[in-house]
Amino acid sequence: MPDLHPFIAGLPKAELHVHHVGSASPRIVAELASRHPDSKVPTDPEAVADYFTFTDFAHFIDVYLSVVDLVRTPDDVRTLTFEVARDMARQNIRYAELTITPYSSTRRGIDEDAFMEAIEDARKAAEAELGVILRWCFDIPGEAGLEAAEETVRLAVDLRPAGLVSFGLGGPEIGVPRPQFKPYFDRARAAGLHSVPHAGETTGPETVWDAIRELGAERIGHGTSSTRDPELLAYLAEHRIALEVCPTSNIATRAVADLDEHPVKEMVAAGVLVTINSDDPPMFGTDLNNEYAVAARLLDLDERGLAQLAKNAVEASFLDPAGKARLSAEIDAYTADWLAR
Ligand SMILES: [Zn+2]
Repeated sequence: MPDLHPFIAGLPKAELHVHHVGSASPRIVAELASRHPDSKVPTDPEAVADYFTFTDFAHFIDVYLSVVDLVRTPDDVRTLTFEVARDMARQNIRYAELTITPYSSTRRGIDEDAFMEAIEDARKAAEAELGVILRWCFDIPGEAGLEAAEETVRLAVDLRPAGLVSFGLGGPEIGVPRPQFKPYFDRARAAGLHSVPHAGETTGPETVWDAIRELGAERIGHGTSSTRDPELLAYLAEHRIALEVCPTSNIATRAVADLDEHPVKEMVAAGVLVTINSDDPPMFGTDLNNEYAVAARLLDLDERGLAQLAKNAVEASFLDPAGKARLSAEIDAYTADWLAR
């Protein structure tokens, strides 16, 4: 088996399931912490890396919230967003749909217009200076209920930043039924936004059906339990509803007990359009390149198989047709060139 890491590192990639605050690397967190010395978060990147070693899921939530607390001003928002793009550029991620939870920031008192300006300013700079195309998914933090849903759809539809392409739903699934969010998804979809809720990560396939039938899901965040329902798998395959699979995240959150038991093989075997993603990469000790290496092992892929995974993400993305064609051609050219060496 050849070492695929160098190929993966240079492969042009797209990422469809990655969270804004959850992408803050130790380097970024240390910079934000040094701006807000009253926070308990360390200001040295190495100490932050230790701080990111979780003992259990409750500890993960504590750490995550302490990072959320560091994003206090529009300038913090801009720094976080642009620096996340810099980490993506280092991995040859050329296009990313970043899931942002604007409710967390506006509720904390960041002015909503200044927030939108900060992310848009970072988006333009990332494209011009780093060659990374960013788009946004605004998601409802499900645990915050219908008030958060109302606020999120209002921000998405009324303020609609130019980079916004989709509308999502995150947070816990247990005790937070998807159908209650239908009216908010209806409004977002009527405004032309794509529907990409998390579903079937910690609950069964019925949650994925709910996401499809009630929320009009065009892609599913995780969808891990879909393999328990053959009819659902067939539906996903037939309708090209892609799954955003995040293997290391699934282990970290215990959605899947062991990597070797990950259902991604069955998803692919059923003909489902599978994309590989990193979710909250530094917090789960991973990055997209590592997730591709994990996928190569689980799916027994060579260079061509990995290139196909990258092209799946382009196909399932909400990039415009010309942009999709360009990025796909770039993946093909890179792979042909690599294999000819
Ligand atoms: Zn997620």
